[in-house]
Order: sequence, then C-alpha cells, then structure tokens
Amino acid sequence: MRHCCQFKPDDIYYLRDNDLFSSRQLAIGFCPICKKPVAELTEWRFDGILNKITSSGINANDLMLKHNSEIIYSQKECNYRRFKSKPFGWKYGLNKQAKSGGKNMVKQYACDFYGNKELIKSSPC
Ligand SMILES: [Zn+2]
Repeated sequence: MRHCCQFKPDDIYYLRDNDLFSSRQLAIGFCPICKKPVAELTEWRFDGILNKITSSGINANDLMLKHNSEIIYSQKECNYRRFKSKPFGWKYGLNKQAKSGGKNMVKQYACDFYGNKELIKSSPC
C-alpha cells in the first residue's frame, strides 16, 4: 500500500462480495514516514475494472467503519485468537453516552473488528 512511500500493510481484511464488486480487500497499516493510519480498499468490478480507495488519518477510521459489517476474516485473525477479550490489531474509537449518577457521561471505547471492546476513558459531557 502507498502513502508517503510504499509499505507493507499491517493487516488485510477480506470483505464479502457485493452486487458490483468481488475479490474485495481492505488493507490497513501505518505509514512509516508520517505515522498516519492508512486504509486501502481494493475491489474488482464485474466488468474487470479495479476500484481502489485510499484514506488516511481520521478518514481511514471512517473507511474501516463503513466496511466493518462486510469483513469476513482478516489475515491476522487466526494468529491472534487467544487474545479474545482485548481489542487487537486495528482499533477504532467509539464514543457512547451513558448516564451515571444522574450525570451524562461520555464513555470512550477502543474497539477492534472482532467484537472486542475496552473502556479507555469516561468523562462528563
Ligand atoms: Zn505518510
């Protein structure tokens, strides 16, 4: 994958085919030069045209969230099954509002794409 330079993805997620595209992959990694997270979606359209979308920084998070439900498995997943309870690999941020002692709180979670979730911080909003 590519950002400031060409680099190896940290992990590759394999996505379900949809009506238009097949052989869909979402590669994620961190640019070794600017350290930004980079997500790269590649998919082949039914008529043989390659569609490629690259996002970095906060947009990489959005791209992952958008395709989260289509992930079938990831390259790393098998290797990391033993860490079932804690988020691993690519993590994304999730904010949830909750009431605690009559106050509105924002709870920040770090989530991975295998359903693991860890509370990072809760603060009044
Ligand atoms: Zn970069």
